[in-house]
Amino acid sequence: MSDNKDTYTTGFGAPVDDDQNSKTAGSPGPVLMQDVHLLEKLGHFNRERIPERVVHAKGAGAHGYFEVTADVTKYTKAKFLSEVGKKTDVFIRFSTVGGEKGSADAERDPRGFALKFYTEEGNYDMTGNNTPVFFIRDPLKFPDFIHTQKRNPETNLKDADMFWDFLSLTPESIHQVTILFSDRGTPRTFRNMNGYSSHTYKWYNEKGEYYWVKYHFKTEQHIQNFARDDATKMKGEDPDHATRDLFDAIARGDFPSWRLEMQIMTPEQAKEYRFDPFDVTKVWFHADFPPMTIGRMVLDKNPENYFAEVEQAAFSPANFVPGIAASPDKMLQGRLFAYHDTHLHRLGPNYHLLPINSPKATKVNYYQRDGAMNFSDNGGGAPNYYPNSFGGPEPQPGAAEPPFEVEGTADRHPYTHPNDDFFQAGELYRRVMTDEDRTNLVGNITTHLVKAEKRIQLRQSAVFYKADPEYGSRVAEGLGLDVKEVEQLAAMSQEERAKATAG
Ligand code: NDP
Repeated sequence: MSDNKDTYTTGFGAPVDDDQNSKTAGSPGPVLMQDVHLLEKLGHFNRERIPERVVHAKGAGAHGYFEVTADVTKYTKAKFLSEVGKKTDVFIRFSTVGGEKGSADAERDPRGFALKFYTEEGNYDMTGNNTPVFFIRDPLKFPDFIHTQKRNPETNLKDADMFWDFLSLTPESIHQVTILFSDRGTPRTFRNMNGYSSHTYKWYNEKGEYYWVKYHFKTEQHIQNFARDDATKMKGEDPDHATRDLFDAIARGDFPSWRLEMQIMTPEQAKEYRFDPFDVTKVWFHADFPPMTIGRMVLDKNPENYFAEVEQAAFSPANFVPGIAASPDKMLQGRLFAYHDTHLHRLGPNYHLLPINSPKATKVNYYQRDGAMNFSDNGGGAPNYYPNSFGGPEPQPGAAEPPFEVEGTADRHPYTHPNDDFFQAGELYRRVMTDEDRTNLVGNITTHLVKAEKRIQLRQSAVFYKADPEYGSRVAEGLGLDVKEVEQLAAMSQEERAKATAG
């Protein structure tokens, strides 16, 4: 092979003679079609952008490792978790959710916390957030929810009416809304926040016994948040402040780390728990299921190329390894489809072959072939069908998730667990928050909700009131609403309240 590393070449390896002067007929002269270098360069430039992620468009990523610090073999047979001291390479992408690719890092928004473990049994992804719960618990509602957090179809502006109309008509969102409008909705940096699986997952061991689990990655840099005015200031001063902070910290050797704590529930406990353990708008109280520390993640290497490693990174909660599986959480079930599907659209059918997405500690052996941009050896001359008698790869029955029972009627079942949607948000307000947290929360809400129509302000204040009467009253007072009217709306059923505040 020729050593041409100092030679500027075309995309096809031929030397470029001049990159400053287009080839023309005479001087200045019209440009000639036969300047093939110019045509190739402009053509490629026109195609530089790939579709922006519909959600989580703005992000930053880093490489690192995960180390096991406690024996969890009783709960899972996942090989990367099989030994204390075992290390696995990881790649993480932090992000905001609602903004476009150029939006400010200091926006009030949940933060994505998407992790890829490059295990010897294939890649395992955890697509978490910095909040332990979510706004909705049925994937049918997801596109509508996201539309309301994005731009008005007529004005192309963020729209407080859309935002609060949907949320106030979807009271299951109150827990996440309370977290979002606390100062945790504007984390100081990506390093100063926790990451949660939010969803419940299943772990199963060598014997086929299973457990329900939740992941909590707790920051070792301490939680730090912006107060409202500081976040607004930062958006103007440095819209990329969190991206910059992560890159700079790793570059100077100040490697951020997170402790992995697990909550673990037996199937029997799940049947009796006072909250539906698969409802992603709820947490499992720590007193009921004390988190146990089982590992530590350290980020110690910056990407060398943002597009190749961060923009093209593709995570999916459907990427499981033996020992870890899905739970019946409906939002999770929807995401099992949606992530892979969006990557097929955004990156193409062979996105899993890109270096950042392909396994590093094992090989891909399968019968899938072809497709756009298949830059692997495409299976060479090996059989492309199964079964075959030419020595192709065989399924491994031992990798199966143990069988589990399902029962019931096929129908559009709502969540019917006998607990309400307001209690946990109320507990956060009453029991966890300090006086300062509560004051900031109310101020963060009123400065945003005041931009919505009054009837929507009333309806949403009633939802806060249902979480905690003081909470709802303070929001209503901050908006200059009649607290008695809010109290009356709070006493109504959801349907009556929607009717009483219809447009
Ligand atoms: P605890 O009272 O034992 O602990 C409070 C938890 O709340 C801590 O995990 C703390 O995180 C977190 N927290 C503190 N301020 C905020 C905030 N503004 N937004 C979100 N989380 C915050 O928790 P319980 O299990 O008894 O649950 C009480 C309430 O705490 C829940 O209703 C829920 O709103 C919230 N919570 C519970 C979690 C859980 O998994 N049980 C997880 C996170 C929040 P940290 O330790 O990092 O400071």
